[in-house]
Amino acid sequence: MDAEVIVVGAGPAGAMCAYLLACAGVKVIILEKAILPRYKPCGGGLTPRALKFLPFDPTPVVEVRAVGGQLTWEGRLLLQHRREPYVALLVMRDQFDAWLIGQAQKAGARLWSGTRVLQVEESADSVQVETSSGVLRAAYLVGADGVNSVVARSLRWPRRPTGVALEAEVRVSAEGLEHQGAYLTFDFGAVPYGYGWIFPKAHHLSVGVFYAREGRVPDLRMLLAQFMSRYPHLVAGKLERVQGHHIPLGGAHQPLHTQRTLLVGDAANLADAFLGEGISYALWSAHLAAEALLGCLANPQASLATYTRAVQVTLGRELRYAARLARWVYAHPKPAATLLVGSAWLQTLWVDTLTAQRSFTGFLHALPFYLPAILAQGLVWKSHGGTRG
Ligand SMILES: Cc1cc2nc3c(=O)[nH]c(=O)nc-3n(C[C@H](O)[C@H](O)[C@H](O)COP(=O)(O)OP(=O)(O)OC[C@H]3O[C@@H](n4cnc5c(N)ncnc54)[C@H](O)[C@@H]3O)c2cc1C
Repeated sequence: MDAEVIVVGAGPAGAMCAYLLACAGVKVIILEKAILPRYKPCGGGLTPRALKFLPFDPTPVVEVRAVGGQLTWEGRLLLQHRREPYVALLVMRDQFDAWLIGQAQKAGARLWSGTRVLQVEESADSVQVETSSGVLRAAYLVGADGVNSVVARSLRWPRRPTGVALEAEVRVSAEGLEHQGAYLTFDFGAVPYGYGWIFPKAHHLSVGVFYAREGRVPDLRMLLAQFMSRYPHLVAGKLERVQGHHIPLGGAHQPLHTQRTLLVGDAANLADAFLGEGISYALWSAHLAAEALLGCLANPQASLATYTRAVQVTLGRELRYAARLARWVYAHPKPAATLLVGSAWLQTLWVDTLTAQRSFTGFLHALPFYLPAILAQGLVWKSHGGTRG
């Protein structure tokens, strides 16, 4: 055997899983097709939920601490909400992912970068991995190779639903950066069945549109241009990179293990179908995967089925509730935005959910309880001509 565990993919899911296994003394090899640091289209928003699963302080790679969010509709500001000390930390993924994999390497994991996995095959006692640098064998395999996972395809996992996001890194003037400040902007009028975002970074803005549905994708380039044209501080901006990518629409009940292989993060389709947030679920699933693998390495009679079960009752449940919320909000985006703007109760519930002080499950369970107060606040707000929250 070349290793006890081979991890395919050095994104947050793979790096975290390798880190935890290496810390426990397991012989791990990470196979990554790119040379790190590599660019990855991503808003780079680390929610407090993601930070719960990071065992180290990410300050060295944080570009901006976002102190609040703005809700807009076709460029018009509806609501600005501030929450100390922050609602999210913003990173560039090339720096964040390279830093994370550095932690795994320091813990003892070996990284083979520039090594593309072509095919995997499982037998009763091992997994064989065919790569661009030769064939490797290990007792167990972790598929952390993202939404287009070769590991999932090789082992004939069924296709899962995905949405699509198009992101641009936009260089703006110092005034433009100042205008955005440390706020995350979400515009639910930018895309039918989705939203547009503006996230501040140290020297530019990350701007994108997310279509949160399977099937025929609308013209996202046109929607991105239209979205940007509504924000004066973006209009003169220079588009430095424009790149699209699929985002899993999580929430399905499905096995995430075979006898010797686990899928984690985007490869397991674990991103939320509402906002497309996936880093926290990548890290969370990595923790559960490492735990299951340590159990199997210690006791060969144990089964990786414990991993699928653990995902289903924790983050799987969250993703099912996020998908439910997405279906409702994207079917009625305007009433949803109006209700949010009019009700301070709903705003608190919502920001609690985004900042992980409340789960999606808790949010939807609390909603009927708070509904009379939310509707009353909405009515008062309307009776004041929609000017008071
Ligand atoms: C435009 C956009 C914006 C987003 N914004 C946010 C955000 O702000 N916040 C958030 O939480 N989430 C966001 N997401 C989702 C987030 O990027 C993903 O959920 C997250 O990257 C998942 O991490 P991962 O480790 O599972 O996979 P990835 O980060 O995709 O890592 C997979 C790794 O596997 C490697 N790989 C792939 N195939 C092979 C192969 N055959 N052999 C070897 N290596 C391979 C890849 O090179 C890559 O390094 C966004 C996604 C997109 C597309």
